[in-house]
Amino acid sequence: MTDIQVHDKRFSIYLTEAVLQKRIKELADAVNKDYSGKKVYFIAILNGSFMFAADFFKYLTIDSEICFIKLVSYKGTKSTGNVTTAIGLEDDLHGKDVIILEDIIDTGKTLHYFLPQLQHQQPRSLKIVALLHKSEMTRYEVPIDYTGFVIPNKFVVGYGLDYDGLGRNYKNIYQLAEEVS
Ligand code: 5GP
Repeated sequence: MTDIQVHDKRFSIYLTEAVLQKRIKELADAVNKDYSGKKVYFIAILNGSFMFAADFFKYLTIDSEICFIKLVSYKGTKSTGNVTTAIGLEDDLHGKDVIILEDIIDTGKTLHYFLPQLQHQQPRSLKIVALLHKSEMTRYEVPIDYTGFVIPNKFVVGYGLDYDGLGRNYKNIYQLAEEVS
């Protein structure tokens, strides 16, 4: 399938299953090498990263734990500004080597506000793996340690990523097709 329809929009194929899997294995191999002999605690951010995390995890050969969390953003008081809280983070990260698995980083806002909360628990190390990075859109500083693909500023769906709730089920990633007017 080269084109798909999700709600009212058409999307064209952008990253095929084969291309995604090859790159995800490369990312996992890099982590296997960098963390050789260590145990890593992975935090996958729902909903979008569920497929990526599952495939990435299968390529790991180091001792690995994983938990899935959901980030909820709300507006705090004037002094606290934006607040991002995590649902599902039960373990203490103190002294652990932690790696975040994120499907896509766009402005960087979500992780920018969430990282300090993890740092607060004093993990031994904290790194980020992002499958996709819309680098030209990133306004908030986020240290991405392993990037799958740097992509242009076009909306993407598939492989866990949705458009208004739909489209997560595809094995490929699709890009919003140019509208013909
Ligand atoms: P950020 O906080 O970095 O601006 O946004 C990250 C979140 O925005 C992602 O986790 C994802 O939920 C959503 N997002 C950003 N760009 C896209 C996109 O092209 N497609 C989809 N489906 N979600 C996106």
